[in-house]
Amino acid sequence: MTPLLQVEHLSKHYEGRRSLIERMTGVPHTVVRAVNDVSLSVGKGEILGLIGESGCGKSTLGRAILRLNEPNAGKVTFDGTDVTALDPLALKNMRRRMQIIFQDPYASLNPRRTVAEIVGLPLKLHGLASGEEARAITARIVERVGLKANQLDRYPHQFSGGQRQRIGIARALVSNPEFIVCDEPVSALDVSIQAQIIALLLELKREMGLTYLFISHDISVIGYLSDRVAVMYLGEIVEMGPVEDVLANPRHPYTQSLLSAVPEIEPKGRRARVRLAGDLPSPLNPPAGCKFHTRCPLAIDICRVREPVSESVGPGHQAACHRLAEGLNLLDGAGA
Ligand code: SF4
Repeated sequence: MTPLLQVEHLSKHYEGRRSLIERMTGVPHTVVRAVNDVSLSVGKGEILGLIGESGCGKSTLGRAILRLNEPNAGKVTFDGTDVTALDPLALKNMRRRMQIIFQDPYASLNPRRTVAEIVGLPLKLHGLASGEEARAITARIVERVGLKANQLDRYPHQFSGGQRQRIGIARALVSNPEFIVCDEPVSALDVSIQAQIIALLLELKREMGLTYLFISHDISVIGYLSDRVAVMYLGEIVEMGPVEDVLANPRHPYTQSLLSAVPEIEPKGRRARVRLAGDLPSPLNPPAGCKFHTRCPLAIDICRVREPVSESVGPGHQAACHRLAEGLNLLDGAGA
């Protein structure tokens, strides 16, 4: 499949905050390595699911791809254009083709704007339509996402959470984009509403020929809708491959631990429940060697000093772990 989006060695590091005393005494900045040397591609019409715990850098990666957060290093190519090299005007034009749906349907909509203004704004920004024409286009997309055209002059607070997310989806789609970063679009919604929004996103993808980078911390959602999956841990991709292959034959211990918490998609016959020790380490002070070693039940000495490199473990399937050759699986009770 021809990649529509290609991400090469992308990094997003932030300067950590310093206290007044630290600033006055010249204590150097700490660095938060939110996204570190990430490479991936998304084929035209594909859904790449990006999975990982809260705080692992998934949303930062999605935003860095769109340059909503400027990356520090690396390259993003979209349909042959180097997005990272675009000047502000060219980037603005590119944004028509690359959109985002945000997680929080409450915070992402301006409470002082009507639905018509919120959804119609991209048409105005990109000079695509104005006046009655813009209102007609806005009404059509609002109806397509399941709201009514007579709700155009209402404000966000007059809608439920699910309806607000539909407004966010309409805003992302109104400029007729090709690629959408879906940044945890259902995590803030009730379970019953989640299913409706996922069904809507899949329908729209089919109708409009869209390509998604779908970000979620829920592996059952990712397993349901993705073609391929990338597993992220502390700012890095630790495993990536076709979704059926990664779910049936997870090779990285972190992926295995994520799967162990979801009985319904757990590979047949594997019942071991993996409980990881501790929390996700801080990206301010990531562990040396393999970043997962502080929580990995399979960690050995080399894991504490040397970072594993990603290697092929099957067609289109890669993982980064020193113990791949041993074929260990936490789901089979390894490391217990
Ligand atoms: Fe665990 Fe070591 Fe593999 Fe990292 S490299 S996932 S610590 S076994």
